[in-house]
Amino acid sequence: METQSLLYLLVGVLAFGFIVPQLLEFLQVYHPSRKIPDTLAEYLSLTKLEESKSYQRVNFNFKVITSSFTFLLTLLCVTQGWFGAIDTWIVSFGHSPLMNSLLFFGLIYVASDVLSLPFDYYRTFLIEEKFGFNKTTLRTFFLDKLKAYALSLLIGGGLMLIFLWLVHTMGPQFWWQFWLLAGVFMILVNVGYTAWILPLFNTLTPLAEGEVRDKLLQYASKVDFSIQHIFVMDGSRRSAKANAFFSGLGKQKKVVLYDTLLEQHTPEELVAVLAHEIGHYKKNHLKWSMLISLLQVGILLFLLGQVVFSETMSMALGGSSWSVQLNILGFTMLFAPLSMILGIGMNWLSRKHEFEADHYAKETFGGKPLAEALKTLSVKTLSTIHPHPWYVFVNCSHPPLLERLKRLEEE
Ligand SMILES: [Zn+2]
Repeated sequence: METQSLLYLLVGVLAFGFIVPQLLEFLQVYHPSRKIPDTLAEYLSLTKLEESKSYQRVNFNFKVITSSFTFLLTLLCVTQGWFGAIDTWIVSFGHSPLMNSLLFFGLIYVASDVLSLPFDYYRTFLIEEKFGFNKTTLRTFFLDKLKAYALSLLIGGGLMLIFLWLVHTMGPQFWWQFWLLAGVFMILVNVGYTAWILPLFNTLTPLAEGEVRDKLLQYASKVDFSIQHIFVMDGSRRSAKANAFFSGLGKQKKVVLYDTLLEQHTPEELVAVLAHEIGHYKKNHLKWSMLISLLQVGILLFLLGQVVFSETMSMALGGSSWSVQLNILGFTMLFAPLSMILGIGMNWLSRKHEFEADHYAKETFGGKPLAEALKTLSVKTLSTIHPHPWYVFVNCSHPPLLERLKRLEEE
């Protein structure tokens, strides 16, 4: 492909990645909403519905501003050859090719993070604050930033180093070698997330003895599911939004409940939430999603292998000679539409899994308490009750609330 045509392709792909998501968001936010359904009448008032709509709109307007900013900046960098200029400048210091790649990505990472900082700040302390979700303090906000930096330097930087080393020394063979490593890494993260990463950001305390704990354990043993620990996480330190999840494989399984979840739900509802999570486990959903993610990483690396040694990409981005880092950057832009299509597939599967986990909870514990829990959760988080079907198709990993309730509440 000619340098000029590749440049046009890049611009086209960037425009696609900017316009399509905005359009879907627009359809979603301005989707005419009907009246409050009977099943939610007790949970939702008209004022709450209005509040929810205004929350969606404020978020949409904000997103339009941030993504326009990112889009225009990226467009300028690509069409004006600024990425290439940065690369030429770094190479001029005469470090090794590996060092050049590391410096290039380090610089891009820091620059994009610094540029997005004001937006992050605005979202957390003005939007989330206004709607009563924000619980984080300035101190926690900046400490989180620092910890995230340290973590990405240690883990991201480490992985990047290995990856770039393989590209520079192994040539076209790098893709399957890194794929193997990435696979091992993904399993390690899955097993160690609760033990190693989570405690850096939150405090986990074992759930105190009492009715809730007894009921959870009683249910778990009824369905023959061994839990090693039930932890309560201080989610309320940052946000009023609640959640529960699971981590670990085999005997190392841990259940983590947000303290906000414990405050908002009855013991019955909490057991139903746990039953849903156990449903995911029993139906092998975690293993399937992991396998598919692994496959996706394989495809990504294989395709990257086809682009990374091309001189055309480096030139299209304004480089003065063949450059691994420019090619990788160009590839991530080209890959975006394909990643959107893969995402649609992943979301479809995930919605199917959600229904299956709901079904499991309904069969082994009861549909009603889970339905109640879902109502409380989605009303509190101000999520849309009448989402646009296209938006759901592309973006949602969970089925719309009303569809889940319909299945849970029917006899
Ligand atoms: Zn689920």
